[in-house]
Amino acid sequence: MSVLVTGGAGYIGSHMVQALVEAGENVVVIDNLSTGFSAFLPEGVPLFIGDAADENLVEGVIAQHKVESIIHFAGSIVVPDSMRDPLGYYRNNTMTTRNLLNAAVKCGVERFIFSSTAAVYGNPDQVPVPEHAPTRPLSPYGSSKLMTEIMLHDVASAHNMNYVVLRYFNVAGADPQARIGLATVGATHLLKIAVEAATGQRAKIDVFGTDYPTPDGSCIRDFIHVSDLAQAHRAALDYLRSGGSSATLNCGYGRGYSVLETIEAVRRVCGRNFAVQHAARRPGDIMTMVADTSRIRSVLDWTPQYEDLDTIARHALAWEEKLFRERHGELEQAVSA
Ligand code: UDP
Repeated sequence: MSVLVTGGAGYIGSHMVQALVEAGENVVVIDNLSTGFSAFLPEGVPLFIGDAADENLVEGVIAQHKVESIIHFAGSIVVPDSMRDPLGYYRNNTMTTRNLLNAAVKCGVERFIFSSTAAVYGNPDQVPVPEHAPTRPLSPYGSSKLMTEIMLHDVASAHNMNYVVLRYFNVAGADPQARIGLATVGATHLLKIAVEAATGQRAKIDVFGTDYPTPDGSCIRDFIHVSDLAQAHRAALDYLRSGGSSATLNCGYGRGYSVLETIEAVRRVCGRNFAVQHAARRPGDIMTMVADTSRIRSVLDWTPQYEDLDTIARHALAWEEKLFRERHGELEQAVSA
């Protein structure tokens, strides 16, 4: 029996695959490598390069590898891109999951874990945000994930399938051993930008908005270490395997750090200074986004290990330094060839 991880060569998916392999699970990956890297997969993990929307491919993989659970990461995740290309997002997120679920149901897969997002809440009335808060996504990205949540709920009601939806808050950091991390070129995430500045790849970092009614004027986010997030999925898998009923869970730590505090943490761990520029608010940004984590902590057997912001920053930085050295090396090789 094995676990199918879609998007397993991507940032979060590859941490998931690593965690599963380390736990002795059989894992198989489907990834179209549009943003993932096959080199991120541990040796021996079968990779099928293709689309999670390709039902023939998925059915073949499920049959060949006796897939008993699916953890579904594949999808598009850039909010501004979703504004420009909503139909692309409904295709890559909602329609892809529809096809994947169709194959899963046909083949009798009983467990499904889905990557959702705090973006389903839109602008919350209440912080920390509980799962029962109204869902009012502000972008096609958030809507495409919410539509998938609804679909999953209906599919599980009609068929022999239980699911866990994990609504991620701000995922950050990298593998503590720096084997894998966020390698997407042009990523826009705060910590990624900060470590790019810390490694001299950017002249500065802009702080989008310092006039919010928060203690230091910048936005507040609930950063969760990617390895803890992967462990939350493992705990969700254990929960479903032991007969747990379908559940939708916030996935964060339940504490917020401001943008300025986060940049300060990167400065602290790198021991170098880099330019920080106060800039205008970024349109669409939510002021404070922090998870109410009481449900995940009571439902899953999950104990986060890397809650400390400096640890998240240190791991993100170590990975960025490694990535930079590797890419720089490749560049030098290309130039000298
Ligand atoms: N942010 C910033 N400068 C940057 C990137 C992000 O000030 O170069 C801020 C952004 O405005 C938001 C927070 O950092 O308030 C988190 O942004 P990110 O894009 O990482 O995640 P989001 O919460 O938007 O999903």
